[in-house]
Amino acid sequence: MMKENISRRNFLKGASATALGVAASGLISACEPKVATTAPTNVEATEAPAAPVSSWRTPPEPIADDQISTTYDCDVLSLGVGFAGLCALRAAAEKNPDIKLMGVERQKRDEWALFGHDFGHINSEFQADLGIPKVDEVEFLNNWQLMTQNKSNPALVMQFAKHSGETIDWIRKVLSQSVLDACVPMFWPETEHVIHQLNTGFRYYPGTAQWWTADNAIEAKEVMKDVLAYVEASLPSVQLFFGTTAQYVLKDASGAVVGAIATDADGKYVKYNAKRVILATGDFGSNPEMVKDLLGYIMGMTMEGDNVAMPMARDGTGHKMGVWAGGRLETEISTMGLDTIMADTLGGLWLDEEAIRFCNESYSGPEIRTFIAARLKRRKIVAVYDSTAPEMALYSFPGHGSFEPTQENIDALVDQLDKAYKAGATGDNGYFAADSLDQLAEYVGYTGEQKAAFLAQVEQYNTLCDAGVDSDFGKDPRLMFPIKAGPFYGHVITPTIGFGLVTTGGFVTDNDQQVLGQDYKPIPGLYASGNTCGMRFGPAYITPTPGVSIGIACTLGKVLGEHLVDTVA
Ligand SMILES: Cc1cc2nc3c(=O)[nH]c(=O)nc-3n(C[C@H](O)[C@H](O)[C@H](O)COP(=O)(O)OP(=O)(O)OC[C@H]3O[C@@H](n4cnc5c(N)ncnc54)[C@H](O)[C@@H]3O)c2cc1C
Repeated sequence: MMKENISRRNFLKGASATALGVAASGLISACEPKVATTAPTNVEATEAPAAPVSSWRTPPEPIADDQISTTYDCDVLSLGVGFAGLCALRAAAEKNPDIKLMGVERQKRDEWALFGHDFGHINSEFQADLGIPKVDEVEFLNNWQLMTQNKSNPALVMQFAKHSGETIDWIRKVLSQSVLDACVPMFWPETEHVIHQLNTGFRYYPGTAQWWTADNAIEAKEVMKDVLAYVEASLPSVQLFFGTTAQYVLKDASGAVVGAIATDADGKYVKYNAKRVILATGDFGSNPEMVKDLLGYIMGMTMEGDNVAMPMARDGTGHKMGVWAGGRLETEISTMGLDTIMADTLGGLWLDEEAIRFCNESYSGPEIRTFIAARLKRRKIVAVYDSTAPEMALYSFPGHGSFEPTQENIDALVDQLDKAYKAGATGDNGYFAADSLDQLAEYVGYTGEQKAAFLAQVEQYNTLCDAGVDSDFGKDPRLMFPIKAGPFYGHVITPTIGFGLVTTGGFVTDNDQQVLGQDYKPIPGLYASGNTCGMRFGPAYITPTPGVSIGIACTLGKVLGEHLVDTVA
């Protein structure tokens, strides 16, 4: 089966009101006629945005000194040793071996696992060697800001643009040959029909470094295990504590963060004194209370039967520790997938349960284009195309979840369509095929008025395709393939929301990933990187190239490690 479809299927499988101070004063003078007036309303800004009281916001009781079994001193402490934490420690150690570095990691050494396979980046030597064109950093930044509605921090995004290429080369430098050999570029080589910029303005870039062997034997975790092995063998200034869970950060009388308390594998309390502390514990998706509290906009979209879950995610300890220390969380926290319906990768013509078209099927990558479905359509959707579907698939753009037109994927698509054709009325895997549109309408469940609507909508779509202008929904003309040449296909999708991989937002930071307090001033000593760091994605996870979550975690982790060395040396 095609890679992207596998990805989508796995993805699908796994799938308060703010208290405002209102001062109202309305004065009606006795001699004035008594007409209804609107009282002037002042909404007072509170020091912190008021939020529902949730147990996770309450810090634990401090551990008394006499309960501490061991105390360590270091310059930089990373709480969490994942993509961001490990890259930060490695980069710091390489820049200055005299700095004392420590990493506290909850997982045991032999069970340590990270998630993913795609490392999104631009402008690496890896890409240059393959002939992948260099990307203009300014264009990359502006495109990112466009995609995130300018709600991401441009300074962090520009650091990603400038340093992601060198970061991936830096990672590849310490990999074993077998892991290195398993690396392939995504969406490369390109077909002559590739679309780099959609008519909506969004740009997409090829060349993500992917580790995804057919048997899933080599994924991101194998890559990072090699990095870990290198750090352990070659960088003695880094001391790692596996099986150790960070509990809370320590502050001194001035309000500076000066270390952390953790519990070791035996449940004993360990104290780490540090000049700089990095929150790098990943996301909070597996913490239901935090999800409910912090992702209210998604919870507000759910309906009966929806189950909001990110079973593979982290539990949000880093977010908790930062909040207890006074850190300010961004208010629109993005997630990887939670509020999108992963509809058909091909695009085609999407019809709702009444057989009515409702959006531009190719507005962007799936993270954004399916927002409409998630917010508007919660019943059956049918993606319709004809026998030109394999050709249409070549007109792809290199975003996550887009159809990657490799020969293997095209063959898998053709195979799927053939199976649907042979299956007749029962369909195969949600795909149906018929020699006539009339017949297809019945197979996908449109009868009576809906069937008439279906035929009329296909005709209207064909008219728009022939005219080369989607005057109904604005779809890119290059992706307007008429539905005229049988057999005809329908992919029936049952929309659900609520299954995601991770949350991708967190603390508002300055340009050096230093966590800001409620007063928007940096909290001395406290940093957030990876999925604890906010304002990288704005209101939604976006992928101008696949795998930017891992890409940005590694890149900004490295940038942070290098920066912190300068601040403590
Ligand atoms: C199945 C799956 C597939 C994915 N595929 C991709 C992909 O292909 N490309 C992509 O870009 N993104 C992908 N992602 C998302 C990506 O894995 C994350 O966004 C990425 O891991 C973020 O890196 P991080 O360093 O912030 O956190 P993590 O990699 O999660 O690292 C956090 C570390 O902190 C540790 N930790 C947590 N709490 C504590 C604590 N209290 N004390 C000590 N240690 C703690 C954790 O054990 C972990 O090792 C995928 C996610 C999933 C679940």
